[in-house]
Amino acid sequence: MTPLIIAIDGPSGAGKGTLARRLAQALGYRHVDTGAMYRAVAWKALQEGLALDNEPALAALAERASFGQADGIITIDGHDVSRAIRTPEMDQSAARVARLASVRAVLVARQRGMGEGGGVVMEGRDIGTVVFPCADVKIYLDASAEERARRRAGDAAHTGGRQASVDRLKSQMAARDESDATRTVAPLQMAADAVYVDTTGLDAEQVFERVLGLVQDRGRSSIGD
Ligand code: C5P
Repeated sequence: MTPLIIAIDGPSGAGKGTLARRLAQALGYRHVDTGAMYRAVAWKALQEGLALDNEPALAALAERASFGQADGIITIDGHDVSRAIRTPEMDQSAARVARLASVRAVLVARQRGMGEGGGVVMEGRDIGTVVFPCADVKIYLDASAEERARRRAGDAAHTGGRQASVDRLKSQMAARDESDATRTVAPLQMAADAVYVDTTGLDAEQVFERVLGLVQDRGRSSIGD
């Protein structure tokens, strides 16, 4: 099967990370978590005392930063930020940074470079619409707001093991999704040719099997393309 570009988009807590990791492992592909790149830029900007609306400085930071993602460890300029970027504060900060057109331009170019040869599962908000409009497989992963908040509450990587209220998470996630879906640059939206997968009531294994089936169909048809 020729190495494909697989784009996974959708709102927060839909299960993109779990699915993308699992698919990449099964196919021997590279997994790129683009949300982690926006988060890492926001983390580094705060470390450097930069205002999160200082667009030129943030774009320059994104341009010169070195990003690492391997075995679930996220680094920026050699700092392991895997835990530090998954806090409610960083949820907000990443979404603010993601509204800046010049930061997006830099990160989108870098993401294209990471995926251009194929053999990649890339997850985010604009992968099927902006980063790789010609991706071989486009999935738009969704779930009810209630279920997404429940999953997030049970995700220790995100709650730091602290007790999180589902209602509170639900309203925080709704605010972030609203911000992502209504921003002027690359808003969260489903690509016209994406497959909509509602994961409400499905476990991670069922979602994986369903999407793997779609990938295999695409792989088979690309042999005949
Ligand atoms: O996916 P994750 O929740 O880690 O992403 C954090 C934030 O980064 C999102 O709320 C969104 O604002 C932004 N993002 C984006 N485009 C992407 C990935 C993430 O705007 N491709």
